[in-house]
Amino acid sequence: MVQYVLDKYDRPMKDLRISVIDQCNFRCTYCMPAEIFGDDYRFMPTEELLSFDEIVRLVEIFAKFGTEKVRLTGGEPLMRKNMDQLVARLKQIDGIKDIAITTNAIFLVKQAQKLKEAGLNRVNVSLDAIEDEVFQQTNGRGIKTSPVLKGIEAARKAGLEIKINMVVKKGMNESQILPMAKYFKETGDTLRFIEFMDVGNHNGWNMDTVVSKQQIIDTIHAEMPLEPLEPNYYGEVANRYKYSDSEAEIGVISSVTDAFCSSCTRVRLSADGQLYTCLFASEGYDIRNMLRNDSSDQEIISKLIKIWTKRDDQYSVERAEGKPTKKKIEMSYIGG
Ligand code: SAM
Ligand code: SF4
Ligand code: SF4
Repeated sequence: MVQYVLDKYDRPMKDLRISVIDQCNFRCTYCMPAEIFGDDYRFMPTEELLSFDEIVRLVEIFAKFGTEKVRLTGGEPLMRKNMDQLVARLKQIDGIKDIAITTNAIFLVKQAQKLKEAGLNRVNVSLDAIEDEVFQQTNGRGIKTSPVLKGIEAARKAGLEIKINMVVKKGMNESQILPMAKYFKETGDTLRFIEFMDVGNHNGWNMDTVVSKQQIIDTIHAEMPLEPLEPNYYGEVANRYKYSDSEAEIGVISSVTDAFCSSCTRVRLSADGQLYTCLFASEGYDIRNMLRNDSSDQEIISKLIKIWTKRDDQYSVERAEGKPTKKKIEMSYIGG
């Protein structure tokens, strides 16, 4: 019945992103600027976070809707203890084909092998510069690239699929587009450039700070010729390219200059169990409350159907049309 209802709907609920914690050991200037997320910033107390039991129960329900992919994110997801145990439990759920983690990679040296053994398929590692001086600025904590690169190596050794994500912000790290492309062309890891977005309310975004997909492609193509590739699957957010003289790939996620809302299949759960149908939403739907007041699976399913079938999010399209924006949730809370 669940699948029947959603088959008729034009944006399937394929891709579930779960933030498991709102804290982070970085303070990336475009996400958790240190002046806002200082030492006295109040992160969520543990009892507000969804427990592993609650996450597993929800994913079992989502799997009935045709959700196949689960991405664990944060904050920094690997700051939550025993993530391998969560991965192992999610892996056993019927219908879940792919489990990924988005991470700054600092804890991968210790955790990559046990995460792989638990059933993790992929890691997306965020790295915004290959030169230390630039990276130390972007991460807001003066951290050099070597612990991240070691984390990537650990993931490779463990046999995890790896993608690298680089947010490009004008005046911050556009100097790194080519050095990053060259570095990861060599290693063969897919590098994905992400246009700087106006998530949250504190990152000082305006259109002048965006380096567009076209500018990124032109910069690389002038030095290392590129050829476009077909999408791997419906709803893939990155435009893919390969180098003419190698099999290495890059992708560009152009949520600002070329919005893709009409094929957006993502559903997001915050660390405290609020469901969001869009990264730029002002408010979520309180699912944790349903879990904690003994709602039945059927009641939760009915609620999800109601939310998803009336979904009409197209924030990025509206931004491009110049529509005014409301207060938004923070990236560290919803997890990207
Ligand atoms: N801490 C983990 C990490 O950095 O990979 C996971 C959470 S982070 C919020 C998820 C993704 O959001 C990262 O790839 C990060 O670069 C991206 N991100 C954060 N703020 C952004 C912004 N303003 N514009 C575009 N991407 C952003
Ligand atoms: Fe932390 Fe990730 Fe946000 Fe950077 S992007 S501050 S690593 S949550
Ligand atoms: Fe999806 Fe919202 Fe992003 Fe559009 S703006 S692609 S609806 S998350």
